[in-house]
Amino acid sequence: MKKSIFIALCVMALAFQPLFAGGIQQGAQNTGLVQGKGQAKYVFLFIGDGMSMSQISAAEVFSTARSSSDIKVTKLGFTQFPVSGLATTYDAGTFITDSASAGTAIATGNKTLSGVINMDAGKTVKFKPITDYIRDAKMKVGIVSTVTLNHATPASFYSTASSRSNYYDIAVQLASSNIDYYGGGSLLQRRGKNNDQKDVVEMAKSNGFTYVDTIDGFNRLKPGMGKIIAISPRLQDDGAMPYQLDIRKGDLTIADFTKKGIELLDNPNGFFFMVESGKVDWACHANDAGAAISDVLAMDDAIRAALEFANRHPKETLIIVTGDHETGGMTIGFAGTQYDTFFNKVALQTKSYVAFDDEVLKPYKAKTQVANAKLADLIPAIKESFGIDYNSLSDFQKQQIEFSFQRSMGNEQIRSFAEDKYLLYGGYEPLTVKLTQIMNQTAGIGWTSYSHTGVPVPVFAKGVHQEIFGGYYDNTDLFFKLASVMNLNVPAKTK
Ligand SMILES: [Zn+2]
Repeated sequence: MKKSIFIALCVMALAFQPLFAGGIQQGAQNTGLVQGKGQAKYVFLFIGDGMSMSQISAAEVFSTARSSSDIKVTKLGFTQFPVSGLATTYDAGTFITDSASAGTAIATGNKTLSGVINMDAGKTVKFKPITDYIRDAKMKVGIVSTVTLNHATPASFYSTASSRSNYYDIAVQLASSNIDYYGGGSLLQRRGKNNDQKDVVEMAKSNGFTYVDTIDGFNRLKPGMGKIIAISPRLQDDGAMPYQLDIRKGDLTIADFTKKGIELLDNPNGFFFMVESGKVDWACHANDAGAAISDVLAMDDAIRAALEFANRHPKETLIIVTGDHETGGMTIGFAGTQYDTFFNKVALQTKSYVAFDDEVLKPYKAKTQVANAKLADLIPAIKESFGIDYNSLSDFQKQQIEFSFQRSMGNEQIRSFAEDKYLLYGGYEPLTVKLTQIMNQTAGIGWTSYSHTGVPVPVFAKGVHQEIFGGYYDNTDLFFKLASVMNLNVPAKTK
């Protein structure tokens, strides 16, 4: 080959490299891809658990509908990023991944079975998460999640576990880790499944962590204090942070934990900061669009904090926003509303399904015998919580609510009906899930599942080397792309 042709081909290959999703993995071992530009020194990875385009689009439509009846889309901060791509979500055993195998794909570049964290499908080989390589490169690492810190997605960034349910074992790994900052929800099973093991918070403290779970403690956190675990002073379901919809004055938000992380992690060697909005997934499992949307918007606020940081370090910062999978089979469009949507109805919701359960339904059930239970007792609270005007509902909808109310109250006569309880209520409080479904349906929002679905997720990128995140690629490629832009010495992708 003539030298001039060879050079021309090399130039073309370099020029087109960002277009090929597969191009990066071959060269991922300390790749020269970042030549010509500095490496990404400050990297943010925001993961909306259970967030695909439906959840994002719903948040955009909602943002418009709460103030106007115009048909237009109010873009979120991150949907205005200059580069967008798509990532597959299937894992080694199913087209419909769970958060453990999805987290493993993103954090290690390997596919595995659902339920497994950072190990192969045979559960014998351990995979090193990207954060290990980042620590080796002397950069700091932060991990924030609105759910518990030993839940599958955050756990994928610091642990290995043959089962995501090994919460205590994962928490022990958190306690012995060298992650600089953990923030958000609490630790599940911190004294073991039977509450009889050594407290992992004590283990973390003896391993040099400062642990805070109060507002004062949080406000006192400053750079130079060493490794930190900061827990939300108020917790909601299963030790997670409250839904944004249920946030009260004085509660810490995902944006607060992100801002604090930026303050604590900022250092001359750079940092990697993973922030998970974990309850978009939980809300979608429960078919509660209002709670899911408000948590997408809360994550957008957190991303704005990263954007402010990026404005101060534009040549060295990269912000990536993605989901790990879609949850609920949520869509904009419902058979009953045909071509119309009424998202202004979602804006009337004041409580998540969890807050309705905790603050309305549970107290009512505790003080009311089945024989005395009347749906009419709860109609004002239903209006206040979900904006549902009971009298305006169709007879069919009223019947569904009455039926689910009886089911929630434990009416055994109704329970003996042969319909499929799972398909109707997904294991949630029958009344609550029926209320969110009916409100969502009247708004023109449809649901197909109480589980995850198998559609791809979008990836939004802004900052140094943003261009390589365009295109349609595998979720495992996110690991190699991140390793590449941070110039990490990771193993090449195996086929
Ligand atoms: Zn997930």
